[in-house]
Amino acid sequence: MESSLYAHPEDLRGEGIGPVADRALGYGCDGLTVAAAYHRARDVTPHGRSRVTMRRDGVHFPLPAGLWDGLRLVPPSQDDAGDGMLAGLRQVTRQRGTRLHGWTVFLHNTTLGLAHPDVTQENCFGDRAAPADLCPSHPDVRAYAIALARSVARLGVDTVLAESLHFGVFGHGYHHERCFVDLGPVEEFLLGLCFCPHCRARAAQAGVDAQAARVAAARITAGVLDGGAPVPGELSLAGLAERAGDALARYVEARTATVTTLVASVAQAVADEGSQLVFLDLAGAIKGYADGLPTGGLTCEAAWQAGIDPAAIGPVTDGYAILGYARDPARLSADVAAYRSALGASGRLRVTLRPGRPDTPSAANLADKVRLVATAADAVDFYSYGLFPLPVLDRIPAALAPLRLAR
Ligand SMILES: [Zn+2]
Ligand SMILES: [Zn+2]
Repeated sequence: MESSLYAHPEDLRGEGIGPVADRALGYGCDGLTVAAAYHRARDVTPHGRSRVTMRRDGVHFPLPAGLWDGLRLVPPSQDDAGDGMLAGLRQVTRQRGTRLHGWTVFLHNTTLGLAHPDVTQENCFGDRAAPADLCPSHPDVRAYAIALARSVARLGVDTVLAESLHFGVFGHGYHHERCFVDLGPVEEFLLGLCFCPHCRARAAQAGVDAQAARVAAARITAGVLDGGAPVPGELSLAGLAERAGDALARYVEARTATVTTLVASVAQAVADEGSQLVFLDLAGAIKGYADGLPTGGLTCEAAWQAGIDPAAIGPVTDGYAILGYARDPARLSADVAAYRSALGASGRLRVTLRPGRPDTPSAANLADKVRLVATAADAVDFYSYGLFPLPVLDRIPAALAPLRLAR
């Protein structure tokens, strides 16, 4: 089974390309998944050159000439974009026979969103209040995504791993969010739903009454903003149709074609450059990012919240990655099995695990989860080298060892 270790360019620059590549191999991984384009964050990096690391939006390599001519949206370049690190990493990984995956954050970019508010998601009240979420319906955003995919593919990576190539959700549209209103899951979802002109036009093309959908979303959300109780129960598409009417449910469903066609165009662009696209599904983070304790419906069943239809996206990509953010091995197993059945036997499924907090309390728990993942998936990936203390990362080789014996 394939296995890669996620890493940030800051990790490789701090410790050196060779030593980090050797560490990944030593853990039993056969690949590195390195951020080529990333988003802003402040991360505790326990064994890094900086112990707390500031990251900015943008690319970690020089943008190729010619691909960006005439495009309105161009990703910012990181300060170190010109130092040739990713080109050097490609050489080193080739020499060691290690795969290199170009981890690419597409539509989550606060810098671009603040500079161009008209390409960000617009809520049902007409507010442009999600600067981090570029809307996948906007033609400029789609052109940007394709050029970014081509740019990363040209680094010679084995795959482009596409993060945030879908709609954003309300809970993470900016950094430093505050809300003192009791939003239930339904209201929170609706407040993150995009009603920009391009989304409405796409819905109308699909025969959906976008205005009725918008009015329904605003009516339900205004209920809690005006002091009412939130809609009870778990968020589901069927429940939404019942509560908010057909127009809204169909509006939400129409978003999946927006995402699927964008992913297909990006996959084609990546294939034209001689690489492969792996789509990263956000749903595992919706369910378990904060505590590793997903509850209720299976993770696969939450993907629609970001406009993702796994069964439709699987066939237009070369691989499908999910986030196994779960402590309980049985729950993880059920989630992986559901994706496996959505993708079919031939789809290549990768599962990302966090070897420490908040999902993994012990080496034994990680080993259990890796063993279960191996029965249903084609790859297990570990997130992320710079974010966990070295003793936590040391759980990885023991978890992978039984798989190496088996092959
Ligand atoms: Zn973010
Ligand atoms: Zn939109």
